[in-house]
Amino acid sequence: MKTGLFDLSGKVAIVTGGNGGIGLGMALGLAANGAAIAIVGRNETKSAAAVADLVKDGHKAIAVATDVTNEAAVAAMVERVRRELGRVDILVNNAGINIRKPPEALDIAEWDSVISTNLTSAFLCSRAAHPAMKAVGGGKIINIGSMMSIFGASFAPAYAASKGGIVQFTRSCAVAWAADNIQVNAILPGWIDTDLTRRAREQITGLHDKVLARTPAARWGTSGDFAGIAAFLASPASDFVTGTAIPVDGGFSVMG
Ligand code: NDP
Repeated sequence: MKTGLFDLSGKVAIVTGGNGGIGLGMALGLAANGAAIAIVGRNETKSAAAVADLVKDGHKAIAVATDVTNEAAVAAMVERVRRELGRVDILVNNAGINIRKPPEALDIAEWDSVISTNLTSAFLCSRAAHPAMKAVGGGKIINIGSMMSIFGASFAPAYAASKGGIVQFTRSCAVAWAADNIQVNAILPGWIDTDLTRRAREQITGLHDKVLARTPAARWGTSGDFAGIAAFLASPASDFVTGTAIPVDGGFSVMG
């Protein structure tokens, strides 16, 4: 058997939305296995705090303030990571937002904002990182979907469209870039306790208990639940795994 299956020493990872929630959970998992981390987000205070946490634990990390919906800013971000950390091996497309409204109440600006933050950003970041990954002989891209990649939801038409799109985008890049030794996979989180869902719990009465009842594991997920799957999908352990969409959901998607 090969050794060092999960070793990420010498690798460089970009994590969008890495300054909190699920993104920070994945960044910590990648760093714990040896990767240097570029935290990408708009909120510089949150990003600086995430970098400080990583550095305090002995990891190499930088923050790159970027709006991932902006094509020029994304290109500059990848270039800066390459310049400051030397290479790009791993890209986690995790930045995301939701606007909770039924389809008939959603306006075009709201639709565009959700699609560009959750889906177009993954295209922009992946396209910008592709040459850097090719230059080092391969890479790993991890896209973050949702249970709404699978199920519909009356209150989240743009969000569900973006997360369904993420799965098809993942499959397309997996096929296109297999010859470049770039593996592209998606993770589909269940209900996870983060800022995003804390807002949802304030807006939807009873949501907390409904999630507990609907999840076989009978708990909300935590950001730490994403450290292992991120390390697996970023490491040589997953070199023959590509184009998949893996639920990390305590059994939510398999309960009838
Ligand atoms: P958070 O709200 O904690 O994190 C969202 C992150 O996205 C923040 O770090 C934010 O950083 C970043 N972000 C948002 N817009 C932009 C932008 N335009 N440019 C750069 N960064 C941006 O939520 P979660 O951790 O819960 O969500 C992370 C991902 O997981 C999302 O894609 C979400 O859809 C998905 N997900 C979450 C679930 C859950 O239950 N929590 C379930 C299923 C999927 P900043 O504000 O600094 O820009």
